[in-house]
Parts: sequence; C-alpha cells; structure tokens
Amino acid sequence: MLRLALQKSGRLAEQSVELIRDCGIRFSRADGKLRAVADNFPVELLYLRDDDIPGYVADGVAHAGIVGENVVAESGRAVEVAERLGFGRCRLSVAVPRGGDFTDLASLEGAHVATSYPRVLSRFLEAHGIGATIHEISGSVEIAPGIGLADAICDLVSTGSTLISNGLRELATVMQSEAVLIANGSLDAEASALLDALRFRVGSVMRARGYRYILLNVPDRALEEVKAMLPGMKSPTVMPLAEPGWSSVHSVIRDDEFWVILDRLKAVGAEGMLVVPIEKMVQ
Ligand code: ATP
Ligand code: ZN
Repeated sequence: MLRLALQKSGRLAEQSVELIRDCGIRFSRADGKLRAVADNFPVELLYLRDDDIPGYVADGVAHAGIVGENVVAESGRAVEVAERLGFGRCRLSVAVPRGGDFTDLASLEGAHVATSYPRVLSRFLEAHGIGATIHEISGSVEIAPGIGLADAICDLVSTGSTLISNGLRELATVMQSEAVLIANGSLDAEASALLDALRFRVGSVMRARGYRYILLNVPDRALEEVKAMLPGMKSPTVMPLAEPGWSSVHSVIRDDEFWVILDRLKAVGAEGMLVVPIEKMVQ
C-alpha cells in the first residue's frame, strides 16, 4: 500500500484531490477524516497540514506527498521531487512599503523583515550578502509593516493584490513555487513500484492538461502549410472530405500556442475548427 500525504484543507487541497481522481483513483473524502483507502488502487491517502508533509515523507511515515515547493524548501528535509504538478503556482517575494526608503535589495541592510519562511529567506539574504533581522511570524505577514512590527516582509504572492491592498510593493523574488509530488528517497520495492505506477498516471494527466485536440477542415492547397503548423504527437491525421479539394485534419496542439496557431490556420483558409480537451495522454 502506498501512503500518500495530501493537504487536508487549503489552497492545494482541492486540486490535489482532483489530480488523484483524474488518475482514475477512487476514494472518499469525508470531512474530518484523516485517512482514506482508495478502492481501486493500493493507496492510502493521509490528510495533513501542508507544513508537516515534507517531514512525514522524509521520515517514511508517508511514502509520497503533494505539497508546495516553498514548503519543501522551508522544511529543509531531504525528499525527492518526483513530478512538478503545474498548480499552486506562486512566488516567495520580499515586499516593502510603497513610497518608502527601500529602493533595492541592498537597501535592506540592517532592516527588520517579517516572514513565515525564515530558512529560505535567510539563505537568500546570505547569498546576496545582506545583513537583516528576520522575524518569524506564522500568518498575516502582510500587515507587519503597517503596524510597525517590521520594515519589510517576505511572503507568498500570486496575483499581488494582497500586497497592493496593504500598501506594499515587491522588491525581489526569492523563489518560484508550484505544487510538486515528493517522495521518500529510499522506498522499499513495493512502495517504489506503486509510486512508479502513480507517476505514470500523473504524467499522462499532466501532459494531457497542457494540450488540446484539434479537428479542422483544410483546403488541399493549404495542406502542407497546415501539416507544418500542426506536427502533433507524431504527425497529423489527414482524411479526405466527401467534398473534393478539402481534407479533415486532426492533431494535438499545445495549450499555450493555441490562439497563435488558430489565427495562422484561419489565415491559410482552414474552417470548421473544433478544439477539445484531452483527458489522458500516454507516451
Ligand atoms: P495548512 O493549514 O495546510 O498549513 P497553509 O495556510 O499553510 O495551510 P495555504 O494558504 O493553504 O497554506 O497554501 C498552501 C500552498 O499553496 C502554499 O504553501 C503555496 O505553495 C501555495 N500557494 C499558491 N498561491 C498562493 C498564495 N497566493 N498565497 C499563499 N500560498 C499560495
Ligand atoms: Zn501550512
């Protein structure tokens, strides 16, 4: 049985559960329950506070877990990152009061910085040769400068709107982060085989999330151009339409290239485009 730790509640909880479900694994998630055994894959889910996950995995209490890279870095525990998961994206940033005296990183020399990430911040400041006093606080870091507790803060940012509403601006990025699948570095043969099976499924789901399936009608004169735009996984499928001079083309395209390619396809005369999500993509 593979023991997999997930955040019990919070920003990563929903998407972690959704990822495991997309991997075809069925389990219950009754409120208040701390563990659940899946009924169609040998995995036991442990619902924990995210801060505890790297430690549980490093100690082998859980074999693997899903947690933010920022939490892994702060924990200082040795775990392996098995897969990057593309959600929970944010950055750990140093922020200062807008219109204040801090102009760049060097100006933080001697300042007081409040954060919930003392280890990551002290490594960062040290690497930049800045001597500052770190105040560890566990929440509501962004109000620290306003109440005179610190000169600056170091906190997680995604859109930046929390900083703005507290009169702060970002001075420097300490690290980028996203949710990752972590694993214990010395798993026994059974857990290791199960982790590989899970990674294979996670990989297929992740790849599919980055792509769309596209179907379109193309005038034969533009076929070569369109084939070059839509290389697909191997090459596009091309089938003649009942109407002479036209073909139907099927392929996969990257989500982030989607609009650009669509415009180019339209420009060469493609019509009737359908774009659909892909559930799994196995290579
Ligand atoms: P727990 O109760 O499990 O300790 P928490 O309050 O420490 O939860 P959350 O706020 O749920 O943590 O955030 C979990 C993770 O979500 C963060 O560690 C980070 O990796 C990610 N995240 C993404 N965007 C943000 C953001 N804007 N602010 C905070 N965390 C974010
Ligand atoms: Zn936490």
